Amino acid sequence: MYEQAIKLLQHYYGYQDFRPGQKKIIQNILDRKNTLGVMPTGGGKSICYQIPALLMDGLTIVVSPLISLMKDQVDTLNSIGVKATYINSSLSSGEVQHRLRLMEQGEVKLVYLAPERLDSYDFMSALQHTPISLVAVDEAHCMSQWGHDFRPSYREVGTFIQGLTGNPIIAAFTATATKEVIHDISSILNIDPENTFVTGFSRENLTFSVLRGTNKESFLKQFLKANKEEAGIVYASTRKEVDHLFSLLSEKGFAVGKYHAGLTEDERRQFQEDFLYDQVKIMVATNAFGMGIDKSNVRFVIHYNMPKTVESYYQEAGRAGRDGEPSECVLLFNARDVQLQKFLIEESIRSPERKQQEYQKLQSMMDYCYTQQCLQSYIVRYFGEDPQENCGKCSNCSDEYVEQDISLEAQKIFSCIHRMNERFGATLVAKVLKGYKDKRIQQFRFEQLPTYGLMSNYTEKELVDLINILIAEGYLILTEGQYPIVKLGSRAVPVLKNQEKVLLKLKETVERISENSDLFEALRALRKKVAQQAEIPPYVVFADSTLREMSKFYPQDKDAMLEIKGVGEQKYEKFGRLFEEEITRFVTENGIEINKSANVMESSQRKPSSVGSRNKTSSGEPSHLFTYKLFMEGLSIKEIAKERKMSAITIQNHLFKCAEEEDVEIDWDTFIPREFEDVIIQVVEEVGSEKLKPIKEALPEEVDYMAIKAVMFKHGIS
Ligand code: ADP
Ligand code: MG
Ligand code: ZN
Repeated sequence: MYEQAIKLLQHYYGYQDFRPGQKKIIQNILDRKNTLGVMPTGGGKSICYQIPALLMDGLTIVVSPLISLMKDQVDTLNSIGVKATYINSSLSSGEVQHRLRLMEQGEVKLVYLAPERLDSYDFMSALQHTPISLVAVDEAHCMSQWGHDFRPSYREVGTFIQGLTGNPIIAAFTATATKEVIHDISSILNIDPENTFVTGFSRENLTFSVLRGTNKESFLKQFLKANKEEAGIVYASTRKEVDHLFSLLSEKGFAVGKYHAGLTEDERRQFQEDFLYDQVKIMVATNAFGMGIDKSNVRFVIHYNMPKTVESYYQEAGRAGRDGEPSECVLLFNARDVQLQKFLIEESIRSPERKQQEYQKLQSMMDYCYTQQCLQSYIVRYFGEDPQENCGKCSNCSDEYVEQDISLEAQKIFSCIHRMNERFGATLVAKVLKGYKDKRIQQFRFEQLPTYGLMSNYTEKELVDLINILIAEGYLILTEGQYPIVKLGSRAVPVLKNQEKVLLKLKETVERISENSDLFEALRALRKKVAQQAEIPPYVVFADSTLREMSKFYPQDKDAMLEIKGVGEQKYEKFGRLFEEEITRFVTENGIEINKSANVMESSQRKPSSVGSRNKTSSGEPSHLFTYKLFMEGLSIKEIAKERKMSAITIQNHLFKCAEEEDVEIDWDTFIPREFEDVIIQVVEEVGSEKLKPIKEALPEEVDYMAIKAVMFKHGIS
């Protein structure tokens, strides 16, 4: 059974192997046991029920909370050739009837359902005739009141399952690992503790960092500017802050969307869609955004404010890098956010026990912000796993982050505030330290203070920034109200007594997350075009990781394409050729030589069969020689391309390869229009033979690359 599971994974998804957590869960489901899988966001939960669904005889029902995202999930499955559909209130009743019939006739393997549908009469009666083999409950924490996304209708799932025929297996999935939530899910769905798997919390491709004392706005602008091409989410804790950042970034010319519960449903849907379809790159949102968003090419998640628990943080940050490509998770820490979270706990929770728990969770979140350990290890340990080793790249592991000691500056500021009797705002404090003449300074005789002009080498703005940082770090307190006053906090005392230092964690330069090659950009542009035509989000066409492999290994025929991670049979049939052609065009225009060593896999994740086989046909004969054979049999390039299901350019390149590497004769004149032969030689001599593009551009339209290369081969120019 497991062997078959692997085969399906390769065939449909184009992945070589299961991740360690997936293996256990799938095995358990296939052993017909009710199973709970707890895995981080992006850990790969969907495959854990999709593969068993394909292996089992009957229908699989997937209960999923978000109507707005079901279509995407089903589109994704259809794009890899898995027959799936969804039923929810967005469909007309005629359409629902149609889909119910498809289910009854066994035309689909998976049906996605919103919990609101579960007690519908039509639906239940349609199911009477359909054997259900598996019920997968995605985002299962929604059934727990302890979870952060409790949905009352999710509670009915248990009753619903009891009413089904065929004694289906139940598999539940969530990223929330708290005891209370796990307990709720297990008892509602009847899952034994021994069938609960909490795994895989480490996410190797993510780089975590916590920045304290950074000017958030300028960091954000710098970061977004450096990563203009990439998609990312900026989480802020309040609607007001989201609105503010949205206008700030829009004004700066960034293509942003926003999302929070205060927007109309239409607005939210539009922004969400724009983000999924890469129409806007940046989504500024409250935590209302993100559940069920499977967009795989999110390259960064920035937390503008600290969330209330490590669970929520990891769930949100984990939305970066689902495709396994390097991605960044940055938390911009500010002690004021702690105040906000405490306030929310006080306001929203009555039970003292519960309050206590929430405070503990908040404390763990703050510890994350202040810890000196590896951040990834901290998280993994928090979820009860043993970290293997430090990640080597988070803000605590990496030496790109500097600790700046600003104790002396802090002392000067504290002392000035103290001498001003803690009665003024940040601006006046800054003016006194700067040594300005000002009506109020004269009025209060501040020019007589020993701290007057003590920091005159700073600009007023720099001083205000510093004061704000000290507020953020909890050394200073800002009062509420229209004219907030800066006061000393308790943390300031040990600093003034030289007992403690004020250290900031800063990153010296903001770098790009990834360097993209020109070919990657070309493939990305093609992907967007293809996606638009197919009316699906770009990441459903191919993941970034897939494009990156393509731009590294230059696959130009079916065999080579299927070696690429994320290219399964169906995807190849749908899109493979277009990408092949783009790669070949790129290779040709840039005169890239694909020698064998460039094609040898470096990554251990590569499919093992690849070595040596990528250029061979299934019979073992090298692909280019097979092309040559057909050519010698008298077939034209076009005919060979059709026969071999390859692009014409690939076939042409096969012939050049033969000419270069094999001892064969090719009659180049077949490809050279006689009237242009001399002109081509002339142009090649003028512009050089390094790159083909300039040659092509200097010649009349009708002269194709084939003719140019044929002339070069015929005359031994290279
Ligand atoms: P989750 O639901 O746990 O947040 P998903 O099921 O959306 O995560 O999977 C996250 C990403 O990981 C998807 O892009 C998926 O295609 C990819 N993925 C899942 N399993 C594997 C695997 N075995 N090998 C490579 N990629 C995988
Ligand atoms: Mg999921
Ligand atoms: Zn680390």
